Amino acid sequence: MKDFFLSQKPRIGISACLLGQKVRHDGGHKRDLFVTEILSRFVEWVPVCPEVEAGMGVPRETVRLVGNPSHPRMVADRSGKDWSREMEAYSRKRLEKLSSMNLSGYILKKNSPSCGMERVKVYGKGGAPKLKGRGLFARSLMTALPLLPVEEEGRLNDLALRENFIARVFAYHRWQNLLSGARSPRPLIKFHKNKHY
Ligand code: SF4
Repeated sequence: MKDFFLSQKPRIGISACLLGQKVRHDGGHKRDLFVTEILSRFVEWVPVCPEVEAGMGVPRETVRLVGNPSHPRMVADRSGKDWSREMEAYSRKRLEKLSSMNLSGYILKKNSPSCGMERVKVYGKGGAPKLKGRGLFARSLMTALPLLPVEEEGRLNDLALRENFIARVFAYHRWQNLLSGARSPRPLIKFHKNKHY
């Protein structure tokens, strides 16, 4: 059987602004050099901007997380519009599609009330915000696909975390390819013997 792993690049979901797409609230982007100049050669991207795809537009009012850090709401800064329901409904639908795309990893934009993986600001009644939130889309993603290797672009500047993420992505990609082939002991033994990611 043809070695699928050698013929396909891992498919990785990514916050679209990290690829240089102008989807931020101010019409700008957050192009990440490691992602675009290096990682792009080895993977296929699936760019996603939850706020644009949920219908918030560009440019748009900024939003923040408010309330209980475990289940915060997403609220617009000036108008006070609560986007939580729209974002959660959008995330459910989008993740149905993403679940069928055989993603091998996901890179999220840090600090975002939609995409942030951890330590996103959550505002309460006065006082300093707590760095205990997770973006609403990121939360849905990590709940729907719990085995998927996920990282933030900021943490990928740490060489140990970067290496760990890449190893997880390529190991997961090989595992997905193993599961897509014939179920027999030989491919499983080969998978465990192969030290290359
Ligand atoms: S952080 Fe997420 S929601 Fe914000 S612009 Fe980037 S992709 Fe869109």
